[in-house]
Amino acid sequence: MIAKPKGTYDLIGLDAKLYNYIYNVVQGYMDNYNYEFIRTPIFEASELFHRGVGETTDIVTKETYDFIDRGERNLTLRPEGTAGVVRSVIENKLYGNQNGPLKYYYFGTMYRYERPQAGRYREFSQMGVEVFNANDPMIDAEVISLGYNLLKELGIEKFTVHLNTLGDLTTRQNYTAALKKYLKPHLAELCPDCQKRYETNPLRIIDCKADKDNDVLKNVPKISDYLTDESKALFTKLKELLTILDIDYEIDERIVRGLDYYDYNVWEYVTDDANISLGGGGRYNNLVKTLDGPDMPAVGFAFGIDRVITELKNILGSQEFTNNVDVYIMSVNDEEKMQALRIAQDLRLNNVMTEINSNNLSLKSQFKMADSLKAKFLVILNSDDLQKGLVNIKDNVTKEEVKIDEGEIVDWILGNI
Ligand code: AMP
Repeated sequence: MIAKPKGTYDLIGLDAKLYNYIYNVVQGYMDNYNYEFIRTPIFEASELFHRGVGETTDIVTKETYDFIDRGERNLTLRPEGTAGVVRSVIENKLYGNQNGPLKYYYFGTMYRYERPQAGRYREFSQMGVEVFNANDPMIDAEVISLGYNLLKELGIEKFTVHLNTLGDLTTRQNYTAALKKYLKPHLAELCPDCQKRYETNPLRIIDCKADKDNDVLKNVPKISDYLTDESKALFTKLKELLTILDIDYEIDERIVRGLDYYDYNVWEYVTDDANISLGGGGRYNNLVKTLDGPDMPAVGFAFGIDRVITELKNILGSQEFTNNVDVYIMSVNDEEKMQALRIAQDLRLNNVMTEINSNNLSLKSQFKMADSLKAKFLVILNSDDLQKGLVNIKDNVTKEEVKIDEGEIVDWILGNI
């Protein structure tokens, strides 16, 4: 037997059901907010992620799936969704004549060579939104609240938005200098990764998982003390808007996010009990320019679908999440089976979820099968009745039975489910 590659999983059973459920809810939801669906390739030129996500980020230094194709091109399986969407906006000149914001959402698999563990896979799914040509804090508030309301709509209630601002370039430069000065005498006390980050990406030290209980990190300077007046005013405005929208948020200065492109607002959706990050995002005003596009501010977030599925499963507990069949059609001989297939097609074309006996089950087994599918109605066919153009319908809950004209079956079922 050939096993699946390490860090991957088959989407089956309840997980597959929940995946489809999330997918369907997301689609409807994005229409309400007027976001357009976009799909970009699963592999892109490696350079896109090196320049986009950042040379010194964990994702690019340790986690990309890089390969050279048969035409000697350097390609990478996408580790995240934003860089590809930005590339597409630039390459297709989607910004064209737009005055207002360009709003997109995506849904798809991402690839990171991470050490597999609970909630961390090498192939996983994300859904995300990206809004371009948008500088007003109203858009940050819209994007943050969209993710918040979407999680609620999906059935997740107990989480909070952890919000921070990284401010503008001056803020980050001043803060980085202060941070480095503070950390310098403590370098030996940090994990080996953070010792490297000290030179390459010092901000990342703040949200290091390995060092999270390290006393050195508990007393780091606060970025809020280094915000320029403009950065502070923008953040104050955003907080006001989130309050108007009734979004549960808390300021969390440890949120810096793992990718290089963020500036100003960054946030994560974190579960209250287990402190799990379901997703996060931020503003990235310079990324489009960095990737050779126009100077176009943008903001976005991504959810990990797998983590949302796990959270939904925790909430559902042993509660079932099944698609109950509306009608099960019972048949034994060939004539009955042919009619069953035809009646099933009529019902299915009228949006009635219908199942038939396609496995030569005995009548007794068909009753059992109908019960296990939680069929609301049984259509019981027998040759004698069929010859008279009649069918029997049994309510599988009340056990009442009626005999009706075969031609009325769709209307009868539609009127009774
Ligand atoms: P990021 O793109 O790193 O900001 O991650 C956004 C969200 O994607 C996280 O909050 C997780 O829910 C999810 N995620 C990131 N990496 C993985 C992974 N290796 N496996 C499963 N989910 C992931």
